[in-house]
Amino acid sequence: MRTVAIVPAAGSGNRMGRELSKQYLSLGGMPLLVHTLKVFEECPLVDALLVVVPPQDIEVVRNTVLAPWKLKKVAGVIPGGKERQDSVRAAIEALDPDAGIVIIHDAVRPFITIELISQCIRAAGEEGAVTVGVPVKDTVKEVAPDGRVMRTCDRSLMWLTQTPQAFRRDIIESAHRAAVRDGFRGTDDTSLVERLGIAVWMIMGDYNNIKITTPEDLVIAEALLTASLKAKG
Ligand code: C5P
Repeated sequence: MRTVAIVPAAGSGNRMGRELSKQYLSLGGMPLLVHTLKVFEECPLVDALLVVVPPQDIEVVRNTVLAPWKLKKVAGVIPGGKERQDSVRAAIEALDPDAGIVIIHDAVRPFITIELISQCIRAAGEEGAVTVGVPVKDTVKEVAPDGRVMRTCDRSLMWLTQTPQAFRRDIIESAHRAAVRDGFRGTDDTSLVERLGIAVWMIMGDYNNIKITTPEDLVIAEALLTASLKAKG
């Protein structure tokens, strides 16, 4: 049974306020997307990678991002869709018949580790559907659109959800199929599974596994990269 990693990288990066989409921005001399793909490439439990990019970027990503960095496990570069969910679905539809476990990870989270990827893959094999996340540190409130606080959530139960999220193939396939059928839109893949009544399990993630969304995140990313290079000596 093979494990395939899907890396959605088809966002337009509007919130970054730059011409270049955030997944191609350079971090320590290497595109963000390559930082992320390299960790999956180096994980022995990952057999193949499917990268999803904007349709107009396919050639440029093949020639200028993937080829120079010799990413051997990349089995396909797939045209993405309008929203993240559409991009992930496009990759699910392109899976080889022998893919048994599917692990999905945002291209813009470059600080993922081989250990966390391996933990997710093993847990998905045992439990069927898992996500990585971290307990919230701040107090969480639900606020109405006009600014009125509706309620304070029980912080001890609140987790910020990250990627990777990993699944047995049949589970994630049926979840995406049902979402299309019902016109459901989720902001992550596990929400598509939860609504089918299938249990999803939380795995303790890493506060450094940030999603690079705005220019401020890039400043934090540079600092995290410097710290991790120092730690490696
Ligand atoms: O939009 P957001 O910041 O949540 O994006 C998370 C990941 O999903 C990014 O890696 C982005 O490139 C990807 N994405 C995608 N297709 C879209 C929108 C986002 O693959 N249409």
